[in-house]
Amino acid sequence: MPSFPPRFMDDIRARITLSDLIGRRIKLARAGREYKACCPFHKEKTPSFYVNDDKQFFHCFGCGAHGDVIGFTMRYDNISFLEAIERLAAEAGLQLPVFTPEDAAQAATQKSLYALMDTAATWFQEQLAFPKNRDALGYLTDRGLTRETLANFRLGFAPDDDRAVIRHLSDKGFTEPQMIDAGLIKRRDDTGAPYSFFRDRVMFPVMD
Ligand code: ZN
Repeated sequence: MPSFPPRFMDDIRARITLSDLIGRRIKLARAGREYKACCPFHKEKTPSFYVNDDKQFFHCFGCGAHGDVIGFTMRYDNISFLEAIERLAAEAGLQLPVFTPEDAAQAATQKSLYALMDTAATWFQEQLAFPKNRDALGYLTDRGLTRETLANFRLGFAPDDDRAVIRHLSDKGFTEPQMIDAGLIKRRDDTGAPYSFFRDRVMFPVMD
C-alpha cells in the first residue's frame, strides 16, 4: 500500500469538515464548540460521542472510538484505508497523488537512512559505556545528567577513531554512500578515503 504525503492527508482533513461528514450519517447536536451524538460504534442511550472540528477528530468516551475523517469513513462505511482516501479525495475535489518508481525509490532510501541513523545512534550510545571513554561519561554526569536521561535521549560518544563507526555500519550492511548521505562520514580530498566526521565528541541524536 502506498503511503500518502502528509500534505495530501492534511488537505483532505482541511477540505472536509468532520461534523458535515458525520452529520450526514448520524444526528449531531451542538455542544459548545463541539457536537455530540449517540455513538454509532457502540450501543448507548446517553451521548458520549463528540466531534471537534477545530481539532479535526471525533472521540467516544464510551468505547474509546477515536479518529479523523478518514478513520470515521473507514469504520462507519466499513471500507479500507485506500478506499476511504479515494472516496474522500473525490469528495474534496483532490487528485490522488501518482506514485512513480522514483517515489518508491526515494521512500526506500529515506527508510534506510533512518535505519542507518538508528544503528549509528545505538553504537554511539554503547561507546559511552566503555571504560576507555569514561571521560566522556564523566563529562555528562558531572553536568547533572542521570543515566536515565542519557538513555532517554540516547546520548552517546563518538570515539577518536577515523574508521570504527564505518566498520560497524558496514558490518550491519550499510554502504559508504549511504553513510555519506547521512552525513556521518566524509571522504578525504586527497585520497578519497572515507573517515568518520564525528570524532572525540559527545553525540546528541535528533529524533524526528
Ligand atoms: Zn462509542
